Amino acid sequence: MASFEKVLIANRGEIALRILRACKELGIPTVAVHSTADADAMHVRLADESVCIGPPAARESYLNIPALLAACEITGADAIHPGYGFLSENARFAEILEEHEIVFIGPKAEHIRVMGDKIAAKQTAKRLGIPVVPGSDGGITDDDEAMRVAKGIGFPVLVKAAAGGGGRGMKVARTEDDLVEALQTARSEAKAAFGDDAVYLEKYLGKPRHIEVQVLGDGEGGAIHLGERDCSLQRRHQKVWEECPSPALNASERVEIGETCAAAMRELKYRGAGTIEFLYEDGRFYFIEMNTRIQVEHPVTEMVTGIDLVNEQIRIAGGARLGISQDEVVFRGHAIECRVNAEHPETFRPSPGRIEYYHVPGGLGVRVDSAAYQGYRIPPHYDSLIGKLIVHGRNRTECLMRLRRALDEFVVDGVDTTLPLFRHLVRNQSIQDGEYDIHWLEKMLAESS
Ligand code: ADP
Repeated sequence: MASFEKVLIANRGEIALRILRACKELGIPTVAVHSTADADAMHVRLADESVCIGPPAARESYLNIPALLAACEITGADAIHPGYGFLSENARFAEILEEHEIVFIGPKAEHIRVMGDKIAAKQTAKRLGIPVVPGSDGGITDDDEAMRVAKGIGFPVLVKAAAGGGGRGMKVARTEDDLVEALQTARSEAKAAFGDDAVYLEKYLGKPRHIEVQVLGDGEGGAIHLGERDCSLQRRHQKVWEECPSPALNASERVEIGETCAAAMRELKYRGAGTIEFLYEDGRFYFIEMNTRIQVEHPVTEMVTGIDLVNEQIRIAGGARLGISQDEVVFRGHAIECRVNAEHPETFRPSPGRIEYYHVPGGLGVRVDSAAYQGYRIPPHYDSLIGKLIVHGRNRTECLMRLRRALDEFVVDGVDTTLPLFRHLVRNQSIQDGEYDIHWLEKMLAESS
């Protein structure tokens, strides 16, 4: 039985299509919204109805709350799925929808808000028993206090902007002499970028991996975890390649961190899908943030658990209990995702334009989540993701073998893509050995340029 009359998808690109597919399977009619630049988009063609909500600039279309409310009104949509990015982590948007009796397919507004504030998020995580990076208890205003705290933690330390995002307003202080300057630089960067110069201190981890735990909660105290993803391969804090399970964890570490996260979500009465992100070094986990949305890399978890996360999000928002218990979550095999972008594979310069020829790989264990097609023109106004190639195998070796051949089959002509970078990575010895940290990719790129 369908839980909603009609779902409006407040997003674009591959995630809009991903949400549309989940709605179709649930038998729920869909409304696509689009900017004038996206009139030809695949999700618009496949949706039951579509509404143009404004000009290309996201501010005037995908972020335009009055236009989205009007689109719900016109079409009779009673729920909105926000996808990732855009309004997905905007607590005010979730509240406004509630005031208009439209269901926000996502967490409670209070949880979006608390996790959106870095200091509050860390304090909440700590209270819930999630291990955090040692550091100051909250914001630091005074240089002498900063020095005292830094000495307590031990150098090197990281000065972080409370309002930070995208890695901005972050400075490493390697020694006591560095600290005053790091504080000043971080404060002025934070002021310029976010209009808020509050900073806090953390122990600086030198060679961590990025490991994140997928959770699902029913909003009433039921919650489970779906294992971890290793997203250590990053460039400028952007994830490039993600895998499940992490090559660095053993079974007992996996169960322990997963259980810690699930217990925390039960206590919080968290609703919907969420991701708790950690840095992992020398066998220890350190919370960095929680994302209260579906993530780009969610398919690797789906491939290994067989659980459709977007379907679960929609069912939970419709008032259903979790469709699975923790005992029913079984991890099978290994999955890797490559984010194929319309960018030059060495300079990473965006390459919008028309896709002249498009051929996606297929065969056992191969999934492509993409909204592109032959003749599609990638608009210059949004991110440069062409699609995600996700490959599953019975073990990591089989997964890598399959990924290698799938990458060789993938053809995108007319624009530059990052496919050559992935073909290089899949053949690299350190990648094959699973031995890489969050700095590995940037170092490799610097050495080969
Ligand atoms: P933002 O919100 O700006 O993305 P995060 O807290 O998520 O900030 O951190 C972004 C990235 O910075 C992390 O993925 C990691 O690469 C690095 N980082 C954050 N905290 C630490 C730390 N304590 N030690 C080392 N690196 C860190």
